[in-house]
Amino acid sequence: MTEVTNQTAPNHARALPQPGADPTQAPPWWLTKPKEIRAFLESLAGVTVEEIGQTAGGRPIVAAAWGEREMLPGRTSSSLQQAIAGRDPSAFYGKGERRRQVLLFVGATHGTECEGTVAMLNYLNIVVTGKDLLGREWPAMAEEGRRHRFLIVPILNVDGRERALDHVSWLNVNPDYHAMISQGMRHNGEIIHWPASKLYQPMSTAQFRIVGTYMNDAGINLLGEPPLGADAQPETTAWLRYARRELPDCVLFSHSDNGSLVEAPNTFIPSHYRQRVAQIAALVGMRCRRAGLAKSGIVQRPGPYSGETWGQEAMAYHACGALPLLVEFPQGWKNVPDTHQGILDIGLHAIDEICAFGNRYRFRPRDPQKA
Ligand SMILES: [Zn+2]
Repeated sequence: MTEVTNQTAPNHARALPQPGADPTQAPPWWLTKPKEIRAFLESLAGVTVEEIGQTAGGRPIVAAAWGEREMLPGRTSSSLQQAIAGRDPSAFYGKGERRRQVLLFVGATHGTECEGTVAMLNYLNIVVTGKDLLGREWPAMAEEGRRHRFLIVPILNVDGRERALDHVSWLNVNPDYHAMISQGMRHNGEIIHWPASKLYQPMSTAQFRIVGTYMNDAGINLLGEPPLGADAQPETTAWLRYARRELPDCVLFSHSDNGSLVEAPNTFIPSHYRQRVAQIAALVGMRCRRAGLAKSGIVQRPGPYSGETWGQEAMAYHACGALPLLVEFPQGWKNVPDTHQGILDIGLHAIDEICAFGNRYRFRPRDPQKA
């Protein structure tokens, strides 16, 4: 995105916003670029890496796995809906309980929202080595994490990520500049702010000089695309197939904003799942508060900010029965937190609290017919 300067602007006089803080600088352990992430994952003992599909732009989508794979016996139905309607969800999930629950992390559906990915990769390093990528030891986190199996799609929207590849940090960056890169800008220089970017789907280069990193190369926001039709984007097909194959117990969709942490549950998952999401959201906020971190809020709305709409979380539940969580990690908006390490620590504590909840109470709530 370094080509976006006033010198290359059309003849009109509108000045482009400047970033304020340097978005291209971050510590070496702040891994956000697809190639460096893949190299890191392939270097970790016990981690297997595979390509689960390609983006609209033809780029590989990578997934990494750690922890023994355990599929329950006795599955007789590939349809969760049919299994529940037939009065036995275990026909879909299998009989019994996994010893090792599975958490699927889906990062950067919005291409430059990588703070959760940074935290997840550090968490994985803690699970494998006992230390984060700064060399700090976290023995309690390692113990919680090692009881799970992790599936990690570090960057789902590789197209959007590569559109601004050198942009690795949003710490204290001018919000107008951030909007220009992440949401988009028209040919006349008008910057599109959130949530107005959601009004353009697909976002085309005919209308937009900068297509925001929210979008894949087809101009689609993967968070809100219709996944039920035959025209699903390849990224959506890739993670859904992966989730159907692996049957995770929890899917964590990682996004970034000011750091509102676990969002209110999606309307279109069952009420006992919505209750689970709300419980975890409160615990994550409290955990960060007790740790004295710069972000520790709990969501104040009873429902999602987007209204009663279908989205990735509902896709995850209805495809594989997992508990879906949408977590908004902090980007350092207005310099809060004011360091990359501060952002990382909020992410580590949030992920750890989610893992700890799974270990104590399990991710998937019991079916109310059997509770
Ligand atoms: Zn997002």
